[in-house]
Amino acid sequence: MLGKKVNRKPFIYFDNAATGHKPQSVLQRLQQFYMGEYGKPKESHELGKMATESVEEARSKIANFIGAGSEKSIVFTRGCTESINIVAGGFAREILKKRDEILITALEHHANIIPWQMACAQSGAILKVVPITPSGEIEIESFENMLSDRTKIVAVSHSSHVFGTILPVKKMIALAHKKGIPVLLDGAQTVPHMPVNVEDLDCDFYTFSAHKMGGPAGVGVLYGKRKWLNQLPPFEGGSDMAKKVSFEKTEYESVPQKFEAGTMPFADIIAFGAGIDFLEELGMENLFQYEQELLAYATEELSKISGVTLLGSAAEKEAVISFYMEQKDVKKLEKYLSNEHNIFVRAGELNAQPLMKVLGVKGLLRISFSYYNTMSEIDMFVKALKKFLEEKK
Ligand code: PMP
Repeated sequence: MLGKKVNRKPFIYFDNAATGHKPQSVLQRLQQFYMGEYGKPKESHELGKMATESVEEARSKIANFIGAGSEKSIVFTRGCTESINIVAGGFAREILKKRDEILITALEHHANIIPWQMACAQSGAILKVVPITPSGEIEIESFENMLSDRTKIVAVSHSSHVFGTILPVKKMIALAHKKGIPVLLDGAQTVPHMPVNVEDLDCDFYTFSAHKMGGPAGVGVLYGKRKWLNQLPPFEGGSDMAKKVSFEKTEYESVPQKFEAGTMPFADIIAFGAGIDFLEELGMENLFQYEQELLAYATEELSKISGVTLLGSAAEKEAVISFYMEQKDVKKLEKYLSNEHNIFVRAGELNAQPLMKVLGVKGLLRISFSYYNTMSEIDMFVKALKKFLEEKK
């Protein structure tokens, strides 16, 4: 894909926070599975057994990749959004009572806001929002002050899809745990870009999507501590999630199968395993360091341009930069970059409408890097941006 042309010209892809391109090994694994091994997992015949083994192998790889002690803590879902909904829906049904509190932050993606609002509507709980600082960070003191006796769960981004800020989640988790409050981390923007160890973080839940990290679309992961996964009810009912079914009642499978109702996107799950191998080979620390170099260079170049205001100046950031222009519309720039330069970025509310309101902007333009981006692509982007600012004066 990266070597291909769009409208007969090479392109620059700076929209990695939305989704990432795929290593060949992922596509080859998909083809190999469909062309030589295809069968439904859990069937007793040979193809079924092979498919089950491959799915479980992918599960172990993912457990290993994020430092989960047991593969039983890894639930396959259809994406980060579904992973969060499983937890929020489960809390609404089993745990939350009227006037309980759910704590999120002002920089969350809609996927980590709406499921909690739905949980509040169902249970009578209240959504509380930790404010952000002008630098796009969360102050640990304001977070601590907002943890109350009524807080039943904290749900925060591990890193921000708008500012790139890597939140001080380890400290936040320790503070929440002191009060016996579980923490969900939305790692959609984190796992693809840096080493993550869920046991070291000690989070209770961790969620992410395969498609942002070289895996196929339609696959996500919910990591949960076993005690929580055991306690939460299944999200959906259907095949493969029950041990015994009668018209009177159903005995559910144990974790993680309890949460994997119906036919899962098993070929994609298997191919995701190949994507994990690819990332392991690159080395997440190497990948992080390289993306940090891209981030530092792009930040430096962009901060020299007058009329461009960068948002998010936290010391610890991922390779995501958002900005607005005092005199110009970011949507127009997005279109200009795409039409005139084949540079693909994202502009608008970035699935963070409440945050845009807090920031007092209509929208932002975001560039987000991956390991396959280069310094010269940044140069081309900066040149195009300067041209836009000048041309449209
Ligand atoms: N959380 C964050 C921080 C995200 O950036 C995204 C995707 N943009 C999601 C959750 C949702 O991921 P998905 O759409 O793959 O379910």
